[in-house]
Amino acid sequence: MQQEPSIGQTVHYVSHGTPGGEYTKQCRAAVITQVTGRAVDPATGDPTDAWVVGLLVQNPTGVHLAQVCVQSEQSHDGGTWHWPEHVTSLSDRMAELEKVVADLAKRVRDCETGFPGMGRLLGGGL
Ligand SMILES: [Zn+2]
Repeated sequence: MQQEPSIGQTVHYVSHGTPGGEYTKQCRAAVITQVTGRAVDPATGDPTDAWVVGLLVQNPTGVHLAQVCVQSEQSHDGGTWHWPEHVTSLSDRMAELEKVVADLAKRVRDCETGFPGMGRLLGGGL
C-alpha cells in the first residue's frame, strides 16, 4: 500500500555522506514542507510511484531545507526520502518470545509423553 505524503508528516531523509567515507549515509528526521507531486520516469515521461517533496531536514548539528527530494523506499540513496522503517515495539517482541517459549514447553511435554524416561532425565536436574 502506497501512502500519500502530506505536509507536516515526519519522514526520513538520507544524508549524502562524503565520498571518502568519513561520513556515511544516515537517515535523518525530516518534516514535509511541500508536496510537489509524483516523480516522472525520465524514459517514458509517465508518473511513477515515487513522490517529490520538500523537506525540513533535522540533523543533530543543524537543520537544512531540501526543496526537491525524490522518494526511494528500496535504495536509500543520498538526497532521497522514505517512510520511517518499521520499528518493532518491545511489547510486540515480548509477545513473540512468549510464543517461542510456549512452543518449546509444548515440545518438552511432547518429548515427555513420547519418551517417559526423557521426562525424568529433563526433570532430574542434569
Ligand atoms: Zn530511514
